[in-house]
Amino acid sequence: MKLSHHYAKHLPELVSPVRPSPLGGMRLALVNRELADEFSLPKQWWESDTLVRGLSNPDFELCRYAVAQKYGGHQFGQWNPYLGDGRGLLLGEITDLKGQPNDLHLKGAGPTPYSRHADGRAVLRSTLREYLGSEALHHLGIPSSRALCLFTSKQKVLREQPEPGAMMIRTAQSHIRFGHFEYFFHAQEKRKLNALFEFTLNRYFRQCLKTSNPHASLLRSICLRTARMIALWQAHGFVHGVMNTDNMSIHGITFDYGPYAFMEHFEPQAVFNHSDHQGRYAFDQQPGVALWNLNALAWAFTDQCSKEEIVDILNQFEPTFIQQYQLKMLQRLGLPEASELALRLLNQWLDMIAGQQRDYHHTFRLLALTDPQQSKPALRDTFVDRDAFDNWWREYRALRTTVPTTQAEMLAVNPAVIARTQFMQDAIVAAEQGDFSVAEQLLEALRRPFSTKYDSHPLCQPPSNTQTISLSCSS
Ligand code: AMP
Ligand code: MG
Ligand code: MG
Repeated sequence: MKLSHHYAKHLPELVSPVRPSPLGGMRLALVNRELADEFSLPKQWWESDTLVRGLSNPDFELCRYAVAQKYGGHQFGQWNPYLGDGRGLLLGEITDLKGQPNDLHLKGAGPTPYSRHADGRAVLRSTLREYLGSEALHHLGIPSSRALCLFTSKQKVLREQPEPGAMMIRTAQSHIRFGHFEYFFHAQEKRKLNALFEFTLNRYFRQCLKTSNPHASLLRSICLRTARMIALWQAHGFVHGVMNTDNMSIHGITFDYGPYAFMEHFEPQAVFNHSDHQGRYAFDQQPGVALWNLNALAWAFTDQCSKEEIVDILNQFEPTFIQQYQLKMLQRLGLPEASELALRLLNQWLDMIAGQQRDYHHTFRLLALTDPQQSKPALRDTFVDRDAFDNWWREYRALRTTVPTTQAEMLAVNPAVIARTQFMQDAIVAAEQGDFSVAEQLLEALRRPFSTKYDSHPLCQPPSNTQTISLSCSS
């Protein structure tokens, strides 16, 4: 493993060096061995207190050149220039086995110049939710930052009440957010903005350099990646909860997990963030918000791209999103052709799940487990309106039996296991007592979400309670 510091070295004016400040009584509680192997990280990191001791040692390789990054962001539609890494530090960069660059980022590392009077800390509840959620998304095939390891501590951190403090190290191609570009654009710091563009293009988007307008291809690339990510969120019922532009990655990966949730009983207007009174970040608003965010980002490109170019690029968001969403949803239904009939059946299926408040994930899984030859499958009994189901099933079955989709293909796109809020809550309660076995078991299942091994497991059962649990933004 070689730790490098390209961002800090190439963009020294865009960062502040900060040493992590350890929490009292820290302990390494979770390690993502699979990911550690992908990065060929030193085994001794996980063996004793190497990392815990290292975090308090100014000469430890991993902390020596840690920096906080400056960025801004549109929060709930309002521009905020005062953001930046307030509690996270970029430790450095490594490459994976494929030679792809990845950041190591320590969250909850203590105050930085961008902490704005907050404590620079993270609580166990939110770090464990991020750990579980990011692993869940990754293994569902949704691009995401990843969790490398989690530290607990004996130190309490004050939120609505005192809670155990924690830290985690996460990885992502980079931590460059929409808000990075927005900040240097709105601050009219053109030299810094251009340095950031040059760095981003050279290090992460080299293919754009071969085109006639590299900036336009960069924006296009971010736009299309974001559209693909959002299509997968919508297809899997994932609600991010705080799609502020400082939480949007330029790589189109799910990033900055806050009050996120997988929607359970299907309700398109579901909101999980209990500070989101307007429903700005409701499930069905996410595609529109992503486009709004891309629009906010696009201002930073106005020196290099004409208005027509930008409009043309942003206009590609919607068709890309729709195409990718339909593709995934029709796969989930086992209908490979986007015919008019298949799309109507998809819409009717979603209407039935929503209208009868069925559990989104479990109902799809049941469909995948159902033999399409059956005329009255057990799936029928999960719907209250049997006539509606019978009508739908007749048409669906007729179409489904003409296509070559196998059950194995259906099971491979319809997960049995979901990171349900209650499961995560159970893991948090145990972890707060020092017991990480519940989190470990959940993680093991989330890493094989399509496995039939879990179909009769309690982790595959939807909760009986259909109330939406709203989640605090405090973390
Ligand atoms: P978030 O809502 O987590 O996306 O955070 C928004 C901004 O607030 C970012 O600039 C964070 O770094 C900062 N922030 C959030 N929580 C804390 C904290 N406990 N201490 C310092 N900064 C924080
Ligand atoms: Mg954030
Ligand atoms: Mg955050």
